[in-house]
Amino acid sequence: MPRELNYWLTTVQMSAGSAEPLPERADVAIVGAGFTGLSAALSLAKRGAKVVVLESETIGWGASSRNGGMVLTGLKLGVNQLISTYGRDLTRRMYTASLETIDTVEAIVKNEAIECDFSRCGHLEVACKQAHFDDYARQVEVIAREFNHQLSVVPRDQLHGEIGSSIYYGGMVDEVSAGLNPARYVAGLGAAAVRAGAQVSEQTRLQNIQRETLDGAPGFRLNTSRGKTWARSVFIGTSGYTGSATPALRKKVIPIGSYIIATEVLPEALALELSPRNRQIYDSKHYLYYYRLTPDNRMLFGGRAAFFPESGHTIRKSAEILRLGMIEVYPQLRDIKVEYVWGGTIDFCFDMMPHAGRIDGLYFALGYAGHGVAMATYQGLKMANWIADGETDNPFAEIPFPGAPLGLYNGKPWFLPFAGAYYKVLDWVS
Ligand SMILES: Cc1cc2nc3c(=O)[nH]c(=O)nc-3n(C[C@H](O)[C@H](O)[C@H](O)COP(=O)(O)OP(=O)(O)OC[C@H]3O[C@@H](n4cnc5c(N)ncnc54)[C@H](O)[C@@H]3O)c2cc1C
Repeated sequence: MPRELNYWLTTVQMSAGSAEPLPERADVAIVGAGFTGLSAALSLAKRGAKVVVLESETIGWGASSRNGGMVLTGLKLGVNQLISTYGRDLTRRMYTASLETIDTVEAIVKNEAIECDFSRCGHLEVACKQAHFDDYARQVEVIAREFNHQLSVVPRDQLHGEIGSSIYYGGMVDEVSAGLNPARYVAGLGAAAVRAGAQVSEQTRLQNIQRETLDGAPGFRLNTSRGKTWARSVFIGTSGYTGSATPALRKKVIPIGSYIIATEVLPEALALELSPRNRQIYDSKHYLYYYRLTPDNRMLFGGRAAFFPESGHTIRKSAEILRLGMIEVYPQLRDIKVEYVWGGTIDFCFDMMPHAGRIDGLYFALGYAGHGVAMATYQGLKMANWIADGETDNPFAEIPFPGAPLGLYNGKPWFLPFAGAYYKVLDWVS
């Protein structure tokens, strides 16, 4: 049995927050010290705002240190579906934003000198069915025409140049995507936010928020597990860990578990055979697998092996499911030891889109649907601009933010087993 431990955390000394008591007042209180909250904190503190970040655990404790480190262009939904739902203009702006998200991460990594193995290695989507591959050509054509962005199709007989697996029907490559070590990245973001003057208070759980005027200024009283603070503006960046302190948001977010295994370090030649161009890879299923090499040549292989958020039980169960999935893709790894397994929680909204805006007077951004490394960083910056300047050009703030059909959801995802079964069926039939 592999160790139940996030491999990325073995590669980093996570940055520490502040031991100071909470300030009596701040310009902005940010809830959550992941990519979303910390990139907002960095940006606002650099503009001179007094910022306090409330984190119930430690810096990067949430999905931001646990993910695959794939810095991906595009959105969860396909371009044709986006255009038919939102129209050409808004889709164009959202897609352009998705390309900018990669530049945003790259600029922060460079400006803040974050050593996180950021590399523009591109991503590869592989087709599990002929019909999925046939759709790639259509997508490439629409993306080139509508968004002036070039992807390439890789036919089955040339796929060996991209991946050492023979089970797929072809692939689609986007050279703009990148990869990084997420734990090092979030640690670097945390350190940069602190350097810029933000107070990051760990082990500080937001319990509830009330509107309160202080010395004639409208704002919010935040009650936490370590006392009270007051802020003129509040930004919620809690993603899949959104809880009862923000009930209106909680009802709009479905927390879904995602799990990862990492093998022992592979011989150089085997690593090169599995992923000759070191791509960030994912397949075309609803119940998908995503995988890549780590900078020290482990195979990191993830998927939604169990739908429920992480627990000892779901993590142990996922280790074997994912190992079997990995061997199906790469029979070469049959005798390779799996050394680590861990899980984390992804935030899905009911339309599978990222959302940003204001709810009950609170700013928020979430709903990254497993595409959050780049988008969460970007949303943190966009929301910082909105809070500081009072206006925004964030296209994700313009789309409707649906709740559960018929309102049948209070934040406890009772329907996950049904959703899991539904997506498995979809993968058989579509
Ligand atoms: C296993 C896994 C693999 C993934 N792989 C990828 C990938 O390869 N590429 C990609 O783009 N995306 C991926 N994602 C998604 C990506 O990691 C997330 O979208 C992103 O990290 C979200 O960042 P965040 O800052 O919004 O939230 P998080 O990093 O989850 O941070 C939220 C924080 O809020 C805190 N919090 C919650 N409630 C409170 C409260 N009441 N008071 C104080 N603090 C609170 C939590 O403790 C947590 O630390 C993956 C996710 C998982 C789980």
